[in-house]
Amino acid sequence: MRLSTITNWAYGATVALTLLSGTTMLMASSAEEEERAAVAQRAIFDQLTATLEEDVYRLTEQARGYVITGDPSHLIAYQREKNSVTSTEARLGHLRDRGANESELAALRQALQWAGSLTDEQDQAIRAARQGDDARARTILFGDEYGRELDRVAAQVGKFQYMLDQRTDHRVTRATDTARLWRTMSELMLGATALLFLCVLYFILKQRILRPVVRLSDVVTRLAAQDYEAAPPEFNQVDEIGDMAQAIRIFRENGLERQRLEEERDADRNMRDLLSRLTQRLQGCDNTADLVDLVRRFAPEIAPEYPGRLYIHDIRRNLMVQACHWLAPSFSRVEFPLSVCWALRRGQTHRPAGEMIDIPCEHLGADVSIGTICIPLTAQGESIGLLYYEEPAQAHPDHLERTGKYLEMLAENIGLALANLRLRDALRAMAMVDALTDLPNRRQFDATLKTMVEEAQRNNDMLACLMIDIDHFKHFNDHHGHDAGDAVLRAVGGVLADSLREQGHAFRLGGEEFVMLMPGFSLDQALGRAMQIQESIRNLRLEHHGRELKPITASFGLAAFPDHGPADRLLQTADAALLRAKVEGRDRILVATVRDGKSAAA
Ligand code: GH3
Ligand code: MG
Ligand code: MG
Repeated sequence: MRLSTITNWAYGATVALTLLSGTTMLMASSAEEEERAAVAQRAIFDQLTATLEEDVYRLTEQARGYVITGDPSHLIAYQREKNSVTSTEARLGHLRDRGANESELAALRQALQWAGSLTDEQDQAIRAARQGDDARARTILFGDEYGRELDRVAAQVGKFQYMLDQRTDHRVTRATDTARLWRTMSELMLGATALLFLCVLYFILKQRILRPVVRLSDVVTRLAAQDYEAAPPEFNQVDEIGDMAQAIRIFRENGLERQRLEEERDADRNMRDLLSRLTQRLQGCDNTADLVDLVRRFAPEIAPEYPGRLYIHDIRRNLMVQACHWLAPSFSRVEFPLSVCWALRRGQTHRPAGEMIDIPCEHLGADVSIGTICIPLTAQGESIGLLYYEEPAQAHPDHLERTGKYLEMLAENIGLALANLRLRDALRAMAMVDALTDLPNRRQFDATLKTMVEEAQRNNDMLACLMIDIDHFKHFNDHHGHDAGDAVLRAVGGVLADSLREQGHAFRLGGEEFVMLMPGFSLDQALGRAMQIQESIRNLRLEHHGRELKPITASFGLAAFPDHGPADRLLQTADAALLRAKVEGRDRILVATVRDGKSAAA
C-alpha cells in the first residue's frame, strides 16, 4: 500500500474519530442542557408552591388583622389578596403545563382544597367581626382548629414539594450522570483520535520510512564501495520505499553483471596471455618431444577441468597415436585409424554432448557417458593430429562454450606448431637427401661419418669405408645423354641401398661418386660386400627411351678401421685406394694399404 493511501486512511480515521468526538461533546452538552432544564423546572415548582403557602399566610394575616384591629384597610387588603389569588384549576393547569405529574397534582389539589377551607373560615370570621361578634371571629382565626388546618396546609405543601424534589432530584442526577458519561466519552474519543494520529505518524515515520531508509542507505553505502554482497532488503510494498528498493536492486544487479563481465574479461585476458605464452614457446620447439612436453604442461592450465589427450599422426603406420595425456582421461584409445574419428573425417570439431543428437567417435570406446570434444589439428587440409577432451559433468553451458573457444585456439596453435615442425623436418630431410638417388647426400655423410668415427674410436669398433666411382662416366654421358646418365646414377644408388638394407649406410657424395660406411664390418666382410656390389653394377642392364644402354663398371677403394690407420683418416685412405684403382686400369676393388693411409695423411 502506498504511503499516500495509508496517510489518507489515517486522515479519514482521524476525521471520523473527531466527528464522533464532536458528536459525544454535543451529546454531553445536550445532557447538560437537560440538567439545567431539570434544575430550572424545580425552581419554578419551588416558586409556585412558595406562592401558594405565602398566599395562605398573607390572607390569614389580613383576616386576623381585621379581626383584631377592626381596621377596614385590612379588609380591603384581604379582599385584594383574595382576588389576586389564582383559582385552584388555574394553578393546577399551570403546574401540569410545567411538567407536574398526576400524583403531585393530587397532593397539591389536596393542599389547595385545604387552603380553600381556610379561606372559607377566614370569610366566616370576617363576617362575624363585621357583625360585631369578635369573640367568634377570634375563636375561628386564632383557635386550635384553625392552627391545625394551617399546619395541615403547610404540611401538604411540604409533601407536594418533597414529591417534586424527589422527582426533580432524580432527573437532575440522571441528567448529570448522562452529561458526565458523554463528556468522558468525548474525552476518550479525543484521546483515541490523538493516539491514532500519533500511532500513524509513528508507523509511517519509523516502520515505513525511517527503518527502510536506514537499511537502504546502508546498502547504498556498501554498494557504492563496490561491496555487491550487500543485498537490498525485500521491500515489495507499492510505495516510494518499494520503488527505491527496486531501483537499488537493479543498481546492484547491474553492478554484479558489470563485475561478472570484468571478471570474465580478466579471465579471458589471462587465458589469452597463457595461450600467447604457449604460442611463443611452441615456436621455439626444436622437435616434437618439446612440443608434446609443452602441451602436457599447458593444456591442464588452459582447461583445468578437462582431461584430454594429444594425438599425432604416425604417417608410416597411418594411425593417430597418443603423444601425451593429462588429468587422467577415461575414454579414447591410445591409437586408432583416422577413419574412426568424426572430427578427422569431417575436418572440424566434433562434440557429441548435451541435448543434441550426435554420434560418438568409435575410438572413444563403449558406454561413453560424458561429453567429449575432438578437435582436428590440420595443416594444408591434412590431418596431422588430434586434441581430445572430456567435458566436466554439470558444467554451465556458458563455461563450456567459453572453454570450447580456448580449446579451439589451443588446437590451432598446436596444429600450426606441429605443421611447422613437420615442415622443418621435411626441409631438413630434403637438405640431407640427394634428390636423384634418394640416398643421403654429402651433408648427411659428413655428419654420419663424424658420429661413426667417434663411436668406433670410443668403443674400438670396426668401421669400413668403401668409395665408389663410376668409370668413364663423362664419356657415358656424352654418348648416351645426360638423362641416361641420371638413370644410371639412380640404378647404382638402388644397388647400394639394397646391398646395405639392414646394416651400413650408402651416400652419394656428388657427381658419379658414392661412399658406403659399414660399422662393425671387418675388412673381409666389407670386401665381400664390395665385390657383390661390383658384380651388381656390372650386371646392370638399363634401357633408356627403348634403347639398351651399355653396361657400366665402377672402381672401388676400400679402407677399414683399425686396419688402415686412424679412424678420422678413413675417408681419405679409401679415396687414395680408389685413386689407385683408377690409375691401375679401373673396374676393380683396391683395398687400402698403410701407405694409402700415410699418403692420405700427407
Ligand atoms: P673416370 O673413369 O676417371 O672416373 O672418368 P669419368 O669420366 O667418370 O670422370 P670425370 O670426373 O672426368 O667425369 C665425371 C662426369 O660425371 C662429368 C659429368 O658430366 C658427370 N656427371 C656429374 N654429375 C652428374 C649428374 O648428376 N648426372 C649426369 N648425368 N652426369 C653427371
Ligand atoms: Mg669421379
Ligand atoms: Mg668416374
